[in-house]
Amino acid sequence: MPHPQRSSSGFWLETASGSLLLDCSASVVHRMAQESLDWANLDAIWISHFHLDHVGGLPAFLFGTKYAPATQKREKPLKIFGAKGLQNLIEKFDAANEYNLLKQPFPLDIIEVEPLEKFEILDKIETVALDTPHTPESLAIHLRDETDATIVYSADTGFTKTLGTLARSADLFVLECSFFKNKPVETHLELAEAMYLIRYAKPKRVILVHLYPEWDAVDFEKEVKKFSPPCEVIEARDGLQLEII
Ligand SMILES: [Zn+2]
Ligand SMILES: [Zn+2]
Repeated sequence: MPHPQRSSSGFWLETASGSLLLDCSASVVHRMAQESLDWANLDAIWISHFHLDHVGGLPAFLFGTKYAPATQKREKPLKIFGAKGLQNLIEKFDAANEYNLLKQPFPLDIIEVEPLEKFEILDKIETVALDTPHTPESLAIHLRDETDATIVYSADTGFTKTLGTLARSADLFVLECSFFKNKPVETHLELAEAMYLIRYAKPKRVILVHLYPEWDAVDFEKEVKKFSPPCEVIEARDGLQLEII
């Protein structure tokens, strides 16, 4: 949803083996440039599901990389990972006006992944996705690098204990918390459920993301404290940077 401090989903990861963007909302395309991120050399993109606040920026980004001076000499491939149906979705965007998005100055690889099948999203970054109760294709993701640093990104999800299992002892758990309380839909989380998952997973650090505008009226620190969380719980905002060692 349009919001002045929190644009829609997009998380940039810098790793020893390259850069990875988790989800690509429409606002992400310009936010990457505003944060001085090297978008022209981005190595991989993860699309968690096909709602437009997670994938709506992808056609615009590919339209940009197709023509931008910064990408004309690029040779290394850009890999786009996501659930079954990703290739079809991109082709449909493309066919809407013959944009030719799949023809880039560099190779473009679209890779559809199966839940619970291990793959490498970047070199030596072991990855596994998990089905979540949000849309038929929606996936959470678990990333582990060579040093055993781990990140779990829930993306959008309803409540499922399995997500807590996936996030067990993670160095960083990026967890959606769309609603504060009395959520009107089953396909997102509210604070009490997020806190249950945090207690269950015992991650080292949590960032709550996908906070809907109703959070503007809530004292985040105060409400989180009431649950006595077992680790630091951070409120997401645009431009926030975290280091994982
Ligand atoms: Zn969604
Ligand atoms: Zn969403």
